[in-house]
Amino acid sequence: MKFAIISRGDQISNSLQMKMKNYLLDFDLVHDEQEPDIVISIGGDGTLLYAFHQYINRLDKTAFVGVHTGHLGFYADWMPSEIEKLVIEIAKTPFSVVEYPILETIVRHIDGGQEVCYLALNEATVKSSDGSLVIDVEVKGQKFETFRGDGLCISTPSGSTAYNKALGGAIIHPSIEALQVAEMASINNRVFRTIGSPLILPGHHTLMLKPKKETDLLITVDHKTFIHKDVKSIQCRVADQKIRFARFRPFPFWKRVRDSFIADHN
Ligand code: NAP
Repeated sequence: MKFAIISRGDQISNSLQMKMKNYLLDFDLVHDEQEPDIVISIGGDGTLLYAFHQYINRLDKTAFVGVHTGHLGFYADWMPSEIEKLVIEIAKTPFSVVEYPILETIVRHIDGGQEVCYLALNEATVKSSDGSLVIDVEVKGQKFETFRGDGLCISTPSGSTAYNKALGGAIIHPSIEALQVAEMASINNRVFRTIGSPLILPGHHTLMLKPKKETDLLITVDHKTFIHKDVKSIQCRVADQKIRFARFRPFPFWKRVRDSFIADHN
């Protein structure tokens, strides 16, 4: 089996990376950064997001596992003290895999310009580079509203605990194939009106966003930011691809939510 290890780059993560690499080589696993079967992320969720985007073209062939060193580590279930145990589990292949839904976002440009497709593990957000975002929101081919405000966040179930949560979105279990649309500071008064609540769309519903103003759009995809000019539409739906996590022991989602957000307070 071929493996790659991605470190957050701090001293602790780098030294764990070296240790794990040597242990895995001792078990006759092959270090292959181009075509790994398993990618071990050492750091936090930011590191796992980075790893996901590094191997985005081989999601069907690569499984991810996270070791967390200090940060929140919502996606990472292994502690640094457990790496020997993890190496033995990895060496015992085959391992079981759980799949989580991800988000597909297609940006289309005016006058038949190029079409750009992004995959997100957490979310995509849309903001205007100049003033309020004014954008028509269509759900399943029907106009739903015209949104005016700071922006929209379209998240995956596993990303629902990230930016989406800060916007008052619901936490969605990743076994549910859905995407969530959360508003960022919508303008609501006698003249302008949006729904004001997060929307959760099932896997077979497509969200289409059509800008009403000719401004550049800032589109974020997880930790990355892109500027798009002359946008005709932004299409979001649950992607056909999924992220695959290697699971060596149970890792209940609600326990993770509790441990990350509640644990020390009651
Ligand atoms: P960052 O600003 O350095 O860190 C964002 C924080 O979100 C980190 O504490 C990270 O955990 C945590 N996080 C990431 N994915 C998560 C998830 N699925 N569930 C719970 N927490 C999660 O940015 P970054 O490390 O490059 O990560 C980019 C992400 O930041 C975006 O995908 C977005 O979700 C999030 N973000 C949040 C806000 C907000 O909450 N207001 C605003 C902008 C962006 P670790 O410490 O373990 O890395």
